[in-house]
Amino acid sequence: MSRRLFRYVPFTIVQDATAEPEYEARCVSGDESECGAESGVRHDPAAVEEWQRKHTQETRHTCYRRDFADYAVMEPPDGLGVR
Ligand SMILES: [Zn+2]
Repeated sequence: MSRRLFRYVPFTIVQDATAEPEYEARCVSGDESECGAESGVRHDPAAVEEWQRKHTQETRHTCYRRDFADYAVMEPPDGLGVR
């Protein structure tokens, strides 16, 4: 096995501004089986919270699993273009 030497490049990890983050919640209330109602993917966390409040008001369910996803890009330091 050969070894390759990599030059260390101190990339910065930043959120990809061209892709909207995704927020989602699922109702996990229920004793034997969980409710499973889903907010669907939203691009605004407030929209998910609003969905939760409405669902709780209608069902008295109070437990949710929340998912968050975003995209990240590696930015090379100034003066080091990606070739
Ligand atoms: Zn529910």
